[in-house]
Amino acid sequence: MKPSFYDLNYSDLERVLNQNNLNGSAAAVLFNWHYKKKEKAQCYENIAKDSVAFFQNNFDFSLPEIDTVHESKDRTVKFLFKLKDSYKIETVLIPFHNKYSLCLSSQVGCAMNCSFCFTGKQGFKRNLTTNEIVGQFLQAWRWLAKNRLGEERILNIVFMGQGEPLHNFDAVKKACEIFLSQHGASIGVQKITISTAGYMPGLKRWSQEIPGVNLALSLHSPFAEKRNELIPINVKYPLGEVLAYIDKIPLNKKQFITYEYILIKDFNDSSDDAKQLGMILAGKRAYINLIPFNSFPGSDYKCPDVDKIEKFKEVLDTFKIPTLIRGAKGDDVLAACGQLNSKI
Ligand code: SF4
Repeated sequence: MKPSFYDLNYSDLERVLNQNNLNGSAAAVLFNWHYKKKEKAQCYENIAKDSVAFFQNNFDFSLPEIDTVHESKDRTVKFLFKLKDSYKIETVLIPFHNKYSLCLSSQVGCAMNCSFCFTGKQGFKRNLTTNEIVGQFLQAWRWLAKNRLGEERILNIVFMGQGEPLHNFDAVKKACEIFLSQHGASIGVQKITISTAGYMPGLKRWSQEIPGVNLALSLHSPFAEKRNELIPINVKYPLGEVLAYIDKIPLNKKQFITYEYILIKDFNDSSDDAKQLGMILAGKRAYINLIPFNSFPGSDYKCPDVDKIEKFKEVLDTFKIPTLIRGAKGDDVLAACGQLNSKI
């Protein structure tokens, strides 16, 4: 099987050209063609014939196929992609002001087994390759260009779909390098966010190898017992250790860490929970996203009442930590946070 063109970052591409005695200037042309213009056909413009033939003969340009598209009432779009080995993954386009955030999957299933997450119930199947990650972006963009002409603007990329991105670090890192390349998609470093359950080996690599890319930590409870239930890897990598490590990471001037907190009725939604959360995050470069629990088939957890959610935020406000209650987007098509499961 031929290697995928979409597994190459810019320096890989330059190396391939050099090793095969081809004109190195083709790297910029090819990145521009495939990632800026996002053309489907192969590139014949401004590129020598021997380079065209080389890539045609030696590389695969296929992408994950769109299997199903669900459009929510709020214009959120959930894609089910079919991979070459027939596994399926989900990707979500979330609209805001005629632009989109794209929520990418990084694995088929997930090994972290978080109790509030539909993906976690699916178990881990395999890591995605870089081309399968980049392919979600290109296919979503092309779908927008075809179905919502003029709206094909993906401004933010968040690794919050299926999988723990830091558990598939190499492929995610290379996908980020492709998104960031100024020769191609040129997405700003602060427009990419990687969300983690607190997988320490990947967290250490993130801070050293892709600095500037934003980090979101799934926190969900400041109390060990509750967090162990929600995020089982908390037993191996306890929250205190994860927070202490994050505190030491140098951040850019405008950068902050997002802390995600799923609010579950009568489990982690009390004033005590909020107070403890405020105490551990006070004084940090923190931003809290409160996510009312989105139910999925088979889950016993429930979403708290609106009053309770607002009260939780009021307690956090006393700690002067910027906090947002995130409205569910796409929950009618199971595209909201924690609802992704490719068996649906
Ligand atoms: S919340 Fe994220 S890390 Fe946890 S099981 Fe779901 S996909 Fe995996």
